[in-house]
Amino acid sequence: MRCPYCSAMSEKVVDSREGKDGDVIRRRRECLQCHRRFTTYERIEEIHFMVVKKDGRREPFDRHKLMGGLTKAIQKRPVSVAQLEEIVDDIESRLAEKPDREISSTEVGELVMHRLHDLDEVAYVRFASVYRQFKDVNQFVEEVKSLLGPARRPKG
Ligand SMILES: [Zn+2]
Repeated sequence: MRCPYCSAMSEKVVDSREGKDGDVIRRRRECLQCHRRFTTYERIEEIHFMVVKKDGRREPFDRHKLMGGLTKAIQKRPVSVAQLEEIVDDIESRLAEKPDREISSTEVGELVMHRLHDLDEVAYVRFASVYRQFKDVNQFVEEVKSLLGPARRPKG
């Protein structure tokens, strides 16, 4: 931090306090060269993960929204909320690994479906029907058939 009075690069922090919203930190600093004091404000950057939708629009990754969709998919199914939390945690940790903090909605959907598929096939189909937005009933039936039939998609 450069001193605004003498431009020296050496200073010490004499006092720090958070702003009332908790997102700004005010620091009182003292220049070690001219001993004058000045104040700096640091804004804490919230880390938002963005979901890139098919049409290119971005919206913040919303854990609650995803949980909502998943909760609907598992209604009356033997899947616990804790298991869903695990799925969402997994997606969040994948997001955290992405340098641009972005993930496509398709990737989220595929990750969720992959996990649900291992947990409960009914929940999987329910979720898939919403997520993939099947164009018609036939497409949906094909998906169900692929689950039930011998030509099961390999996991992976
Ligand atoms: Zn100074």
